Amino acid sequence: GESLGLTGIQPLSTELVHRIAAGEVIDSPAAVVRELIDNAIDAQATRIVIALWPDNWRIKVSDNGVGLSWADLKQAAAPHTTSKLRSGDLSQIRTLGFRGEALHSLTQVGQLNICSRRGDEGWQVTYDRQGQVAEVNQVAIASGTIATVDQLFWDWPARKQALPSLTQQLRSIQAVIHSHALCHPQITWQVYQGERQWFSIAPGQTAQDILPQILSTLDPGDLRCLKVPFNNGTEYLEVLLGLPDRCHRHRPDWVRVAVNGRCVQVSGDDNFTALRPLEQTILRNFRQTLPRHRYPLCFIHLYIEPEQVDWNRHPAKTDIYLRDLEQWQQRVAAVIQELLKIPDDADAGHSQK
Ligand code: ADP
Ligand code: MG
Repeated sequence: GESLGLTGIQPLSTELVHRIAAGEVIDSPAAVVRELIDNAIDAQATRIVIALWPDNWRIKVSDNGVGLSWADLKQAAAPHTTSKLRSGDLSQIRTLGFRGEALHSLTQVGQLNICSRRGDEGWQVTYDRQGQVAEVNQVAIASGTIATVDQLFWDWPARKQALPSLTQQLRSIQAVIHSHALCHPQITWQVYQGERQWFSIAPGQTAQDILPQILSTLDPGDLRCLKVPFNNGTEYLEVLLGLPDRCHRHRPDWVRVAVNGRCVQVSGDDNFTALRPLEQTILRNFRQTLPRHRYPLCFIHLYIEPEQVDWNRHPAKTDIYLRDLEQWQQRVAAVIQELLKIPDDADAGHSQK
């Protein structure tokens, strides 16, 4: 017992506590991208540029959002610091972030550098492992923020070695960016591998403008979209679908659900997730319109009051609990039925926007 340390309980050092938590928040390069673009979106960016260098994994995300002041830069990467939960009420979350641990976690798994300007002054800050400012310079930059993570997992050897193939990692990163783009159509995206542009997404009014850019085989004329208000317009449901006789897929890879700006589940994996029932509703309402063993293309986005959602199932915030699920299932079913009734003429796509 003694050599295994089974007696003599002691508290973990604070540093170790944070390192353990960091490993859970940032489990892959895609998780770095997710956290940095969450922050850019919360900062109200309308333009996000992502650059990736897979050798030694360097990831750089630039945004034209509100930026950080020097006072905020000093705090930003310390453990559990956030500007987003002022009310202290977990039922009032209106941002993608609220946990205050992404930037700190990034200092644990790599080297974090932030360049930011809010107002007149721009600063470049490198953080140490405690999330404290290690180096600072005043710089002249445009308003907004550039966050860079370098040498990802450099001293997490097992994790670094266990990363899937580069192709797979890039696919995961692309999926994260596509999901965020669908949920935030007003944003312009540019994605680079090193100096070379990999892909870009032009902004639009709705997800209907984004999806054909993501799925290039899709004919925009085959899409139908409807946004329906509920509760006096405080909540609404957006449904975007492909006409079943023109668009169907071998896998349920485009049966997707988003809540308040985040895709919360990709259907078709075998994990239990709280929102599985909504995807079932989608499938059920398409069943009669599709050939056997084919799946629809359908994206639904619920914009609901923050107290209706519990984001705290997992640090990645992709598995959530939802209140009044059954009511939302009925609403989703009704909107899909409504859209499937629309006559199949070439102009319908535009007038339904
Ligand atoms: P959270 O997003 O949960 O608040 P983070 O660790 O991701 O926690 O970020 C900490 C804080 O740093 C944020 O609350 C925000 O105030 C600030 N911040 C991070 N990234 C940006 C950014 N791109 N633009 C403006 N502020 C940012
Ligand atoms: Mg964040």
